[in-house]
Amino acid sequence: MITALEERFPELPASLLWKTELLFRGVRYTEALKQAAEEGAAPNFWPYAFREGLKTRYIPVPYLFRIDGGAVARVRVDDRSECFVRRKEDGRYVLCDSRREACEIDFVKAHKWQSFRTSDGATQFEAGVEQLGDMLVVNMAPGCEYFRMKDAAGQSHRCSFCAYGRFGARSAALGQVGGRVAPDPTALKRLYEVLAAAVEGGEARHVYLTGGSMSDPALEVERFLPIVETARRAVGGRLRVTCGSGAVDPEGSRRFREAGADSCCYNLETWDAETFRTACSGKSTFVGRQRWIDGLLGAVEVFGRGNVASAFVAGIELLPPAPGMPAQRMIESIVEGATFLMDRGITPLYSPLWPVDGTAYGPEDGLSPELFLRVELEVYRLRAERSFPVPSWLICRGCSYMLLEVDFDHAFGLAGAAVPVS
Ligand code: SF4
Repeated sequence: MITALEERFPELPASLLWKTELLFRGVRYTEALKQAAEEGAAPNFWPYAFREGLKTRYIPVPYLFRIDGGAVARVRVDDRSECFVRRKEDGRYVLCDSRREACEIDFVKAHKWQSFRTSDGATQFEAGVEQLGDMLVVNMAPGCEYFRMKDAAGQSHRCSFCAYGRFGARSAALGQVGGRVAPDPTALKRLYEVLAAAVEGGEARHVYLTGGSMSDPALEVERFLPIVETARRAVGGRLRVTCGSGAVDPEGSRRFREAGADSCCYNLETWDAETFRTACSGKSTFVGRQRWIDGLLGAVEVFGRGNVASAFVAGIELLPPAPGMPAQRMIESIVEGATFLMDRGITPLYSPLWPVDGTAYGPEDGLSPELFLRVELEVYRLRAERSFPVPSWLICRGCSYMLLEVDFDHAFGLAGAAVPVS
């Protein structure tokens, strides 16, 4: 399969194409994955489901590949994939397809602090903390109010691609109650203890705070302020803290900064106005596109150029509930948005539409790897023209497990600067 990408993108290095292949098509299960998990690889949230007759056995597999000692990619097990992992006699792992050994790989290890328990015996998950490569992702309120709120037709206001903002076991474990703004005090205390233990371990490099949305940007500020403050107190000056809330007004960004945030990431999800209105109903109805963009621009005034980012889902422009458009028009829209944002000191990041159960999209609706690489190439050219690498506070080679921007910057020598353009 990778041959098609090699022929289409001869200018891209093989390791980048292999990462793309892994992200889109995964690997089929082999015993080598089980061995890696047994030997200390950070565990995947989705173990491999091995079916024996009517019974299903769940086998732990690793969470993240490291390709050729550098780029990381999520481990997605799909038995339809041509690719698989083989262990050599000397213990090293190689990624293969049916014709060849592609490259050496290993797996990101679980950080030492993962076995830490808080003073009341809670795990990291009950404190809302996950290890993603060298990033600590904090999600104290996974339930998103847009899932609970309905329009006149009885449809929820959630984003069309999102299945992770539901209220459920995860939000319940964190004491999150629908409609309540303040994070649970017990969960905040646990968060402090887990982050303090993690920072002592010395393996983490940055902290990213995220969560489901409130119905009003003012409430979003009140929700996130105690989380920012707790994270800063726990990590001191040793780790970068980024606030990944919904967009807030400039005064809200200023309060985030005063509480200890170094940077922020307010995800607009799509640049095209009609796609935003139809596919991001909650963001459009309760914040609005212009206010979201103004929130990003206001954040630049507060945090400085190069310290503000916004993530996008490439591909939602093409399909309902968006009105739809041809692929070339989508690329033009993405380039227009990326140009606008970069020229104002904001980093845009793109992930492809990955259809998941329970969203507006079927299994075949995802963006193709070829089209995603075309998007990435166009946006890379914009970064290169402006000497504007993806800042390492936001995402780096150690945590960019589902994105390609950092790998493009690295491949073409643009990586490294923490603060771009002035
Ligand atoms: S704002 Fe959208 S993407 Fe974020 S949790 Fe809510 S529905 Fe999901």
